[in-house]
Amino acid sequence: MKRFGVVFLLFTFLSICNASYAFVDKEFVNNQSVIESQNRIDRIGFNILNSNGIEKRTVFDFDVSKTKNAYSRHSDRQIVMYRGLYNRLSSDDEVAAILAHEISHSVDSYNGVLRGYFSIWGYAFSPKKYEYKADKRGVDFMVNAGYNPVAMIVVMSKAFPQKRYDWYSTHPITSRRMMEIYEYIYKKYPEYLVNNKYKDNPFYQNFLLTSKENRAKFQKKIESGSKNSVHYL
Ligand SMILES: [Zn+2]
Repeated sequence: MKRFGVVFLLFTFLSICNASYAFVDKEFVNNQSVIESQNRIDRIGFNILNSNGIEKRTVFDFDVSKTKNAYSRHSDRQIVMYRGLYNRLSSDDEVAAILAHEISHSVDSYNGVLRGYFSIWGYAFSPKKYEYKADKRGVDFMVNAGYNPVAMIVVMSKAFPQKRYDWYSTHPITSRRMMEIYEYIYKKYPEYLVNNKYKDNPFYQNFLLTSKENRAKFQKKIESGSKNSVHYL
């Protein structure tokens, strides 16, 4: 009986040790992934700042909360990326798309154009015209830093919901935003559409499908102003 008690105690002790090892391992792995995510955001964010010669200081913070958003804070010029949104991003181009948009808000904040808190998703208080501007300047920032700007359309197509009404929202409706980005790339950086590395991407294909009518109108407008007719994907 006594021996049984000792064996039982030993067994319990070993189980506790095992459980705590498992716990430490899991925590370590989680920390590793947080560190890796922060490093990746820093690397891409600073690459965008440096490649575009942005002389104002901005830092980046990876926040482990599940919120699907990223935002730029006027009070300390910090750009925060939440894990909920980060986990939806599948390439450096896509991470760059989110950061480039927020960096654009941050630059405006330094120039005194904006105050407050500006997000990519749409819960913040920013007039629509600043959102279109942040998207387009974000495209410029991406190209200058060597990222493919079509990824901005891909991210929105994949992860940004389509609100039912536009009028009450602080951010423009997603389909309108993607179309404006598409037109901007078409006019300024057509090479990314001629040789479109995202043409087989399902999220980009869904953009092509859902923007068919708007793209046809845009194409007509372009053709009426030029003799060469080109159809980019
Ligand atoms: Zn924004």
